[in-house]
Amino acid sequence: MKAIVKTKRTKGMELINVPIAQLGLRDVLIKVTLASICGTDVHIYDWTHWARNRLTPPRIIGHEFVGIVEDIGNEVTHVKIGDRVSAESHISCGHCYQCRNGYSEVCRNLKLLGVDYDGALSEYLVLPEHVLWKNDPNIPDKWATMQEPFGNAIDTVMAEDVSAKTVLILGAGPIGLFATGIARASGASLIIVSDPNNYRLAISKKMGAHMALNPQKKDITPLILEATNNNGVDVVLEFSGNNQALNQGLQTITPGGRISILGIYEKRVSIDLNKEVIFKKIRIYGITGRKVFSSWYKTSSFLSSGIVNPDPILTHRFPLKNYERGMKLMREGKCGKVILDV
Ligand code: NAD
Ligand code: ZN
Repeated sequence: MKAIVKTKRTKGMELINVPIAQLGLRDVLIKVTLASICGTDVHIYDWTHWARNRLTPPRIIGHEFVGIVEDIGNEVTHVKIGDRVSAESHISCGHCYQCRNGYSEVCRNLKLLGVDYDGALSEYLVLPEHVLWKNDPNIPDKWATMQEPFGNAIDTVMAEDVSAKTVLILGAGPIGLFATGIARASGASLIIVSDPNNYRLAISKKMGAHMALNPQKKDITPLILEATNNNGVDVVLEFSGNNQALNQGLQTITPGGRISILGIYEKRVSIDLNKEVIFKKIRIYGITGRKVFSSWYKTSSFLSSGIVNPDPILTHRFPLKNYERGMKLMREGKCGKVILDV
């Protein structure tokens, strides 16, 4: 089969022919129909500091996909040939302290699809049954492939209620844009999106942002205070992984408010803990992955009902062989989500 493989410990990847993985007793063989590229895949291509310390080549990359079940192991009970599936990318052990307490997203023996386990940017994929998600028939393939990052946004937005609240979204990459649609659909009264990328700010407006601000053009703090009767925002959702943006969020959050942080920072961050957290009595949520599988049920409901329409975010679609074009657009920030026909 054809697969995009990180073959060497240097920059780059290759589209090559590799054998299909063996099917274990509780495994499922999936023919991938459509996949999407995540920032993680670009990190692996670019062989960044994180990737060098995390991944051992050779590895088939990718973790966002939709496909059809083609074969099942003898002990598979809940999935059948012909089912249209996607998968939770956090492959948990089910046995550790965290898994047994309902926190499988931070499993002690976690394997990440496309990082520790051969991934989805390939014609076929073998996965254990327990990570599979059967897709709602009302969700088209182009939406089904991005349910995994949509779930990141679900957990970030919904760590607490946003209805009738003022919300600041920092970073309008694909996940911040999903969050904009989710916050709007969940009844947020004012949604302010901040990103230095005007292309993405324009998409945020289509997803329901009331205000789209470019922090490189203007100081966003007075604008946010003005828009909130000098109260500051009730909710900050951090999707930029930028320390300066995080500080802007902490400065403009109203005392007693909450912040959810999904963005990943290159270095240790600096915040004024006394002034901006303790004396403001704010609540901070660290978000990793998605709650398995409650976030998938919420994602599925938002998409199958049409409450959130993510089409403005799906800006590019290429054949698998053109994956490098998609990655280039992502590096340049000239896209929303890039999907690949496999
Ligand atoms: P992305 O890189 O596409 O988007 C980040 C956006 O932040 C970009 O549009 C960028 O222009 C913007 N940005 C940069 N500096 C900014 C600033 N000062 N103020 C406002 N915006 C700024 O990423 P994505 O795929 O949408 O993911 C969002 C973040 O979440 C990334 O940091 C990613 O690494 C992280 N992530 C975390 C998890 C997790 O499990 N915690 C999972 C997936 C992604
Ligand atoms: Zn575990």
